[in-house]
Amino acid sequence: MKQIQRLFAIDPWKIATTTLSKDHRRLQESLTSIGNGYMGMRGNFEESYSGDHHLGTYLAGVWYPDKTRVGWWKNGYPEYFGKVINAVNFIKMDLFVNDQKIDLNQLPHRDFYLELDMQTGILSRSFTVDVDGATIKFSFERFLSIVKKELALIRLTAEVLAGEADITVLSQLDSNVRNEDSNYDELFWEALDSGTTEDMSHLTIRTIPNNFGIERFTVTAAMKHSLLSEETTTETLGITDRFNFHAAAGETITLDKKVILLTSRDVPEQQTAMAAELFSTYSESYEELKAEQIDAWKKRWALADVTIEGNPAAQQGIRFNLFQLFSTYYGEDERLNIGPKGFTGEKYGGATYWDTEAYAVPLYLALAKPEVSLNLLKYRHNQLPEAHHNAQQQGLKGALYPMVTFTGVECHNEWEITFEEIHRNGAIAYAIYNYTNYTGDTTYLKTEGLEVLTEIARFWADRVHYSKRNKKYMIHGVTGPNEYENNINNNWYTNTIATWVLSYTLENYRRFKESATVSISEAEQEKWQDIIDNMYFPENKELGIFVQHDTFLDKDLMPVSDLDPAQLPLNQNWSWDRILRSCFIKQADVLQGIYFFQDQFTEEQKRNNFNFYEPMTVHESSLSASVHAILAAELGMEEKALEMYERTARLDLDNYNNDTEDGLHITSMTGSWLAIVQGFAQMKTDHETLRFAPFLPKTWDSYAFHINYRGRLIAINVNKETVRLSLVSGEPIALSLYDEPVTLTAELTVAIPE
Ligand code: BGC
Repeated sequence: MKQIQRLFAIDPWKIATTTLSKDHRRLQESLTSIGNGYMGMRGNFEESYSGDHHLGTYLAGVWYPDKTRVGWWKNGYPEYFGKVINAVNFIKMDLFVNDQKIDLNQLPHRDFYLELDMQTGILSRSFTVDVDGATIKFSFERFLSIVKKELALIRLTAEVLAGEADITVLSQLDSNVRNEDSNYDELFWEALDSGTTEDMSHLTIRTIPNNFGIERFTVTAAMKHSLLSEETTTETLGITDRFNFHAAAGETITLDKKVILLTSRDVPEQQTAMAAELFSTYSESYEELKAEQIDAWKKRWALADVTIEGNPAAQQGIRFNLFQLFSTYYGEDERLNIGPKGFTGEKYGGATYWDTEAYAVPLYLALAKPEVSLNLLKYRHNQLPEAHHNAQQQGLKGALYPMVTFTGVECHNEWEITFEEIHRNGAIAYAIYNYTNYTGDTTYLKTEGLEVLTEIARFWADRVHYSKRNKKYMIHGVTGPNEYENNINNNWYTNTIATWVLSYTLENYRRFKESATVSISEAEQEKWQDIIDNMYFPENKELGIFVQHDTFLDKDLMPVSDLDPAQLPLNQNWSWDRILRSCFIKQADVLQGIYFFQDQFTEEQKRNNFNFYEPMTVHESSLSASVHAILAAELGMEEKALEMYERTARLDLDNYNNDTEDGLHITSMTGSWLAIVQGFAQMKTDHETLRFAPFLPKTWDSYAFHINYRGRLIAINVNKETVRLSLVSGEPIALSLYDEPVTLTAELTVAIPE
């Protein structure tokens, strides 16, 4: 059993600790990240901290094309790697007591307390220091408004408990910040302007030039405090407001810092004037803005919360995931997408992965207005020209959606991913099916959807080849979802999704031909049909399984349980070569296909494949556990389902893969919700029928959640004996419960079958 690492106490709503983990400060920072969809940051301290940590503030959609750095260039490689860039550190408030710098890495301190309140999105921290006979308790509270997206607030309180002291606060906007993963160690920012107008200090910066014709972003940060500063100084890329206090025992100093952040994405010009205007519009007091924040999160939770009784760790896990997911993306800006690290780290570079379509769309369909998922689909439609470009780069027809991107152009450059992990193209098409199937709305499918589908289908039709010897179409030289194997032939999942795209596109082209904005010639249709009819799918009848790829069964097959647990995670302990040759699977591969096309396989097929592949799976992709939880739940493997739930729900909180210090796994945060809703409650929506067949994990007392479905809001509550469905709003609906047709008009309670 792999060791977990838990830095924060179990609590239903809080991520809290009384320990400053100097050895794991990066992990602590990742786990206390906050965001409001527009901006976000790791849980950095306001004041200087000299210990190992990772300073990170990120602004949605603000990125830089970092020139590719590879040893051996291969034709077709993208020229740049798009990066979410570390932006102005606007929380900075350096503290001095009698000229002694407060640095928790150096200075003895006590009563440390750090808390992220997931109910409200407020991060707070306090600690007490003794300097020159004075005892001072410092407290910070900060939040990024989810009501006024450009607004961030920080409250500093210094309470003198004994003695007296001079306290100095240097409150800053500091753009002298770098990406840790910068290829050439460049600073991505240059200064444009800074200064003070009335009581506002401001700083304008711009991304440095690039050679790829990518727009340069201008950002203005402006700050105002609840007190007037004594002095303002400007540095290159920074501006500082200085505050001096003298306080004695019993006195408390409070300083509020309000920050406005504007980017050229929304305000192309006159940003400083706009910041001043926003300060007067957002003129409420700290307390009022905080109350507004609390209320806004309350509304989000009213719809999205999943309550679990009887297992506080499971409860904390899912809330943490939903909190971080919505802090990253709440569907308010259709130009944005959901980055794998959100605002919590730099590791994955680009903003958009197949994760969105494969893992996030189902959650947003059920927890947000249909427009949100539609926007995610339109995002890809808007990038169709760039997807054409990607296919052309590979010498292929049609559209190849990128593995990693900001603009639609591929910006990842590992040959096995850029060139080979083409299964991603299928997920883009699958999301169109998912949206249409869930909402019943064919408007998108009929028009833009068909344009996207047709171009993806054209890509597949060109990427397959015909094996004369086998009289079958094949797809060679790919990497499947399991990134622990490269350059394999006939990955069952890739062949399956490619064939499905061709069928689904043909079916809908024929269905909506009259209104379609694309044209597919008869010859092309025939060709596609021929591929569909003659695709090769590796299968082993004896074992009753689909084979991951042509030579998978020739590997030295063994379960993960045969490994010394000290070897896990493999990606941190084994050479890459050893991983690639091994049978160990990073994430659902064949099982990803079985999950996507659940209605097309028998229970026996599902069981055989699950039993064959799961024991060899190391789940070292954060995306892995949820698919396994869902399938295990469907197969009645409750213990496995629960193990996988815990893994997906607490992946970061318990640092399962020993990599959360790099940032949170945002796109997999839908996993715990999927595991409960599609797993334990077995919600299915294919074939125009909403179906449930819930069970309650034995160690839980109950769970409850809401879903939006075709204009209804439905509450589902599962306890030890019964399932209760309540129609919170909308028209009555016919659905299926444990395979029995029922009509939900108000409330319905049934006993859970034995
Ligand atoms: C997974 C990919 C995923 C990426 C970003 C990788 O570890 O193997 O499937 O797209 O992470 O989450």
